[in-house]
Amino acid sequence: MVSPVISLRDVTKSYGQGSARTPVLRGVSLDIAPGELVALVGQSGSGKSTLLNIVGGLDKADGGEIKVLDHDYGKTGERELARLRNTSIGFVFQAFNLLDHLTCLGNVTLPAAFAAGGKDAPARGREALDRVGLSAYADRRPSELSGGQKQRVAIARALFGRPKLLLCDEPTGNLDSATGHEVIEFFQKINKDDGVTLVIVTHERRVSNIAQRVIAMRDGNIVEGAGTDVHTAGTGDDLGGPA
Ligand code: ADP
Ligand code: MG
Repeated sequence: MVSPVISLRDVTKSYGQGSARTPVLRGVSLDIAPGELVALVGQSGSGKSTLLNIVGGLDKADGGEIKVLDHDYGKTGERELARLRNTSIGFVFQAFNLLDHLTCLGNVTLPAAFAAGGKDAPARGREALDRVGLSAYADRRPSELSGGQKQRVAIARALFGRPKLLLCDEPTGNLDSATGHEVIEFFQKINKDDGVTLVIVTHERRVSNIAQRVIAMRDGNIVEGAGTDVHTAGTGDDLGGPA
């Protein structure tokens, strides 16, 4: 069996202190294989962003086991985690998160500012912008671009380090329907052409339609599509017949 890109077992997370303490992830287990394109769905507040941030090493779980790209987060130090984020994981957010005091190229190559040996960064940055069809905008500021173009710059930034895993949190949430569609098609393309594993948090049926799997969350639990034996064990017996 190929080892999963993402493997979670009983991951828990709460926010707040004392009586205000609220569980947000209540023991999440899931497996995602290399090259999968997965849609993560569920109502607002069900814990999708928290889960994605924990997988990406942007937030810490309280308990459970997290393995991402052969890194066991329980045994991975801060510096190594930062390196993993920088080299192997890309993020795309609803709000684009571009810096307007930098050019588009500056935004795309920003990850190289924190890494050694970034000499070829401008060339690789232009290549990434070219992939999203925006090479002509390298020296413009993000504020001069449309929403769809901004998101494409953000995608170019996410792809700059040639990640194996792309985590996208409602990437079409701020886009009109046609532009959102282009972005979704591009995700599908990088999944097919480059074998990048994608997890896309979304409310869009179009994303669930192209996804190989839909994982559904409710109140901090996975209620569908976890892809683990742990989760599905014992649920098959009572299907398909009158009692
Ligand atoms: P989703 O992305 O599915 O909408 P989130 O993961 O953002 O859900 O949030 C799940 C729950 O955790 C919500 O009730 C939210 O208010 C709470 N929450 C998220 N982040 C924080 C935080 N930094 N501090 C306190 N509560 C938070
Ligand atoms: Mg969210």
